[in-house]
Amino acid sequence: MPIDSLELLFRENIRRMKPYVPGEQPQGGKFIKLNTNENPYPPSPLAVRAIQQAAETSLVRYPDPLATAFRIQAAEVLGIDPDWILCGNGSDDILTIVTRAFVGEGDALRLPYPSYILYRTLAEIQNARYEEIFFDKDFRLGASFVAAGERLKLAFLPNPNSPSGTVLPPQEVLALAEQLPCPLLVDEAYVDFAEHDCIDLVRRNPRVMVSRTLSKSYGLAGLRFGFLIAHPDIIAMLRKVKDSYNCDALAIAGATAAIGDRQWFAENRAQVLATRERLSRGLAELGFAVTPSQANFVWCRHHDYPAEELYQRLKADRILVRYMNYPGWGDGLRISVGTDAQIDACLSLLSSYLTASAPPAD
Ligand SMILES: *Cc1c(COP(=O)(O)O)cnc(C)c1O
Repeated sequence: MPIDSLELLFRENIRRMKPYVPGEQPQGGKFIKLNTNENPYPPSPLAVRAIQQAAETSLVRYPDPLATAFRIQAAEVLGIDPDWILCGNGSDDILTIVTRAFVGEGDALRLPYPSYILYRTLAEIQNARYEEIFFDKDFRLGASFVAAGERLKLAFLPNPNSPSGTVLPPQEVLALAEQLPCPLLVDEAYVDFAEHDCIDLVRRNPRVMVSRTLSKSYGLAGLRFGFLIAHPDIIAMLRKVKDSYNCDALAIAGATAAIGDRQWFAENRAQVLATRERLSRGLAELGFAVTPSQANFVWCRHHDYPAEELYQRLKADRILVRYMNYPGWGDGLRISVGTDAQIDACLSLLSSYLTASAPPAD
C-alpha cells in the first residue's frame, strides 16, 4: 500500500478535521510567554514536595483510579461531598470524557462563539455537529443558546469565557440550564480569578456540571490535573467512560497538596488580580479597547493598529501573546497576566510601536 494513502485508513470525520492548534510553546530561546494563560509564578512548594515524595515512594504501583485523596481534599475546600467529584488528566480530559459520554455520531453539541476552539475538535472526533451561538455585544447569550435543536445532547459554556474574559452571573447560567433541553457543562478553567462561581448550581439542577483545572490558578499546567463537579449519578456514569488510570500518582499527589495550600492560593490570586488591573489600565492608556476581564488574561484591540501586526512585532521582540481571529466576529490580542515586570516590558514595547507609527503631531 503506498504511504500516501495511509490517510484513507482513517474514519472519514478524522480525515476531514483540522487539528486543534494550542498556543505556541517555544522549546528554545528566551521568550516572555503571555500566550497560554499559565500562571507566571511557581506552584505551591507543598505541591512540589508532595510530587518528589510520590516519585520516591509510589511509582511502582498503579495509581488510585478514583484519585480519592484529591477528592477528599477538594471536597473539603469546596464544601461538597467527594462523590460529586471526578478527576481527570487536565480538564481537557474531563471535557473529552463528558463529550464521549453524551454526544454520539450525528448528535449535536452547542457552544457559544467566540470561545474555546477545542470544543469543536471534541465534536468532530465524535463525528457530531457543533452549533455555535454568537455572544451578543455585551457577551450575554440570547434565546438561541437555549432553543431546541435536533439531536442536541450537550452544551458547553466557558465561564469566564476565553478569549473575552467575561462572565455570566450564576443566576443567568441557571436560567440557561433550566431552559436548555440538554445537560450544560460550565467550564470554569478561569473561575478562581472571577467574583462568582457556579458550583452551587450543580446542587440546584443535576443537569449542570462544572469543570475546573489546576493549570491556571494553581500554576500546574505541566502537571495535568483537572476535575468535574456533578451529581453522583452523573459521576458514576462518567467513570465508565474514563481511562482506568487517567490520573498518574505524581499528579494526584501534587494536586492534592496544591488545592490544600489555601495560603499560596490566596496570595497568588491577589497578585494576579493586581497585575491584571495594571495590564488593563496600561492598555487603555495606550488607546486599546479593553474588555473588562474576570480571568488571568485580557482581550484587547487597537483601533489604529492591526492586532496581527502587533502580535508579530512583539514576537520579533521575544514576547509571545495570542493573536486570535474569529471569522464573522473579529480579531484581537489575548494577553495573559504575567509578572509585573513582564507586563511592564510588554506595555513599553507596545507603547514604542504605537508612538513610532503615530502621525506627526504639529
Ligand atoms: C486552559 C483551558 C482548559 C484546559 O485546561 P487543562 O486542565 O490544562 O486541560 C479548559 N477550558 C478552557 C476554557 C481553558 O482555557
